[in-house]
Amino acid sequence: MSSPNGTGETRTVLAVDIGGTKFAAAAVTADGGMPVRAEVPLSAFASADAALAEVVGRVTARVDRDGIEGVGIGSAGPLDSVKGSVSPVNIPGWRDFPLADAVSRMLPGRPVRLAGDGQCMALGEWWRGLAEHTPSRAVLGMVVSTGVGGGLVLDGTPYLGPTGNAGHIGHIAVDPGGEPCPCGAAGCVETVASGPNMVRWARANGWSGEDAKALAADARLGHPVALRAFRRAADALATAILTAAALFDLDHVVVGGGVAAAGTVLFDPLRRAVTGSAGLGFLRRVRVDPTSLGRDAGLLGAAALVLPQDSPC
Ligand SMILES: [Zn+2]
Repeated sequence: MSSPNGTGETRTVLAVDIGGTKFAAAAVTADGGMPVRAEVPLSAFASADAALAEVVGRVTARVDRDGIEGVGIGSAGPLDSVKGSVSPVNIPGWRDFPLADAVSRMLPGRPVRLAGDGQCMALGEWWRGLAEHTPSRAVLGMVVSTGVGGGLVLDGTPYLGPTGNAGHIGHIAVDPGGEPCPCGAAGCVETVASGPNMVRWARANGWSGEDAKALAADARLGHPVALRAFRRAADALATAILTAAALFDLDHVVVGGGVAAAGTVLFDPLRRAVTGSAGLGFLRRVRVDPTSLGRDAGLLGAAALVLPQDSPC
């Protein structure tokens, strides 16, 4: 086992993942082990505060609390990393909620770091997903789900930005003047490629299914409107990916989230669109892959915020 602190003990931190519908927490060791993990659905609690206390309590009750050296938190946004507060769109009870302070009160005296869920996903993939295979210096993680989020890891460091909001790739405009986006702009990637917006477009064009999962199933069966919905989303995602790749000389893009779980009906047209639209040579080397860690990526990335690792580069 690793002993990065030189004491012969394995360093352990608490990772917390705040999603729009569920909260998760885990004890994470310096080598990426996750000896204790808990998850709760937000809907089972009277308040988000109660769900937070429960999920953290379930983990800390099963580990040596004194051995927890730090706390990393990934949260649905928007957030303010300077104040340590969050305002997740799907949790109306939390507006400018002081999340870092709330968790710190449960485990006083440890460093606490907060980042966006997309950023934690990218960092988790860089640390425990990609690094196992091909070391990457510039990684974009994308979460394509009810929204489209993301995060960047550049030269082995998560790039969070001055306010903690870097990586909002879902709000790059791919259709200026297009559909209005809840963010206040129009034609954002999210207006085309999020699960609900893909379903909305497909239904407006004659498809009669219920949700993104059904849309993926029909695309796999060759339903023409479902296939077009995925190609349209793939084109929007590819435009955003190539924009980011041109700015950051990306090695690798890792895509997770419910829509990404559709598999080849998304990734085949996505890879074709990225390769087909890449102009400059360095853009043609960008690899686009589905997540290899699934939902654990966010917890591992949150842990990595407070857990120094050896760079794989
Ligand atoms: Zn937007």
